[in-house]
Amino acid sequence: MKLIRNFVNGEFVTTHGARFAKVSPVTGEIVAEIESADEALVNSAVSAASAALSGYWSLFSVSQRTALLQAIAAEIGRRSKEFIDAEIADTGKPYALASTLDVPRGAANFLAFSDLMQRTPQETWTTETPDGRGAINTVTYAPKGVIAVICPWNLPLLLMTWKVAPALACGNTVVVKPSEESPSTATLLAEVMNAVGIPPGVYNVVHGHGPKATGEFLTQHPGVDAITFTGESKTGEAIMKNAAEGLRDVSFELGGKNAGIVFADCDFDAAVEGIARATFLNCGQVCLGTERVYVERPIFERFVTALASKARSLKPGDPYASDTTIGPLISREHREKVLSYFAKAKADGATCHAGGGIPSLPENYANGAWIEPTVWTGLPETSAVIREEIFGPCCHVAPFDSEDEAIARANDSPYGLATSIWTQDVSRANRVARRIRVGIAWVNSWFLRDLRTPFGGAGISGIGREGGSHSLAFYTEMRNVCVKL
Ligand code: NAD
Repeated sequence: MKLIRNFVNGEFVTTHGARFAKVSPVTGEIVAEIESADEALVNSAVSAASAALSGYWSLFSVSQRTALLQAIAAEIGRRSKEFIDAEIADTGKPYALASTLDVPRGAANFLAFSDLMQRTPQETWTTETPDGRGAINTVTYAPKGVIAVICPWNLPLLLMTWKVAPALACGNTVVVKPSEESPSTATLLAEVMNAVGIPPGVYNVVHGHGPKATGEFLTQHPGVDAITFTGESKTGEAIMKNAAEGLRDVSFELGGKNAGIVFADCDFDAAVEGIARATFLNCGQVCLGTERVYVERPIFERFVTALASKARSLKPGDPYASDTTIGPLISREHREKVLSYFAKAKADGATCHAGGGIPSLPENYANGAWIEPTVWTGLPETSAVIREEIFGPCCHVAPFDSEDEAIARANDSPYGLATSIWTQDVSRANRVARRIRVGIAWVNSWFLRDLRTPFGGAGISGIGREGGSHSLAFYTEMRNVCVKL
């Protein structure tokens, strides 16, 4: 049985303490055991990160750090098959997805922030003084300190490196807590760190659960200077309470209940393809995914038929088979949650156009977390299915009659992460995008990311923005140095 260990101060440690099992969402079999980090181990990880911060990492020059970041990206590329296999073992996602999205983006995150560190202009002001000599103000960017990086399971390597890369680029050290459901790639990355010569203590990994366990030991630790978290909005609230002790800074990327808006003048096939991708990619487990679709009435019925047909065409199965296009949910527990929304949809009077249950698959997948891609219509806007984040491969489609109505319905949510707007009228696209309260509005596209742009959510979808210079702002403490001439 594979044993997944914690990584502290450059070494994999054996704790002989509590362990928990990693269950394959494909087959339901236990595929690994994970050593849970207790409070003492979390303390050691934070101490190691703190010593590495003041001892050397924050003292490295930008070019020393960025050279190492580039080496990490190259090493992920060299070992990409291992990373893909690890991501598949934890999540069951299709090879086609892990090999084109998760792992390449993991490497790209290190390259992007290495590049940004070298190119970001620095702020300087010359200031007049009464004696006429003046002063020069420069802004320096010191690392913020020890950063706790708390990650979810849906895009494990991609989302973890999205935080680790800028944190390290800015001279911080990190203690990463991957999701208990997806411990493997963070652990593999520890091997990469050692291989390329990242000094001990700069990157630490502690495994375990969140509440009253490893996650909280970390967020409560007074030696942690800032917390960057990706996960559910409710968890964000709990972490923020802990961050309040000692007034630690937070950056939160949280849940979504994103709306897609499809106008009658859209490129029909592209819109169907785009909404299908936004609903079903990664078995619907993408924070940016679309669970509410509003379609202009003249094309409503045709659109529902086409989307339902896309849903039915997705093929679950062996993650390594070239014709597999959808994986399972992350766990049977998560499937119970998603199925409870399927039941609510039925109870609230939905018409189900595709899916709605568990697919029939070969016997060896019977204990996996498989679920059918699902499309509904006919629900009232008050239904929990329309109001709450489900995080499964499903959406509700409703007709609308005017631009104002579509905007009002899209905005009728406490979440505010993303939207996608489908129209060939560029003026309308701009008008609508500006009126929807979200962190990112895609027009005729979805999940098209430029890592230099701000990323985050409005409302209960997040606090702050990361990406490009916005990451550098979060991961540094800006200092004004004023020199009187
Ligand atoms: P989650 O909030 O349950 O868990 C995320 C991480 O937080 C895990 O590592 C977990 O162990 C830890 N955790 C849980 N409770 C904690 C606590 N009290 N203190 C410290 N740590 C704690 O989220 P999840 O189920 O892993 O991921 C799915 C959620 O993540 C969805 O809501 C999704 O929308 C969101 N998400 C958001 C983004 C984004 O960029 N906005 C990206 C991906 C996922």
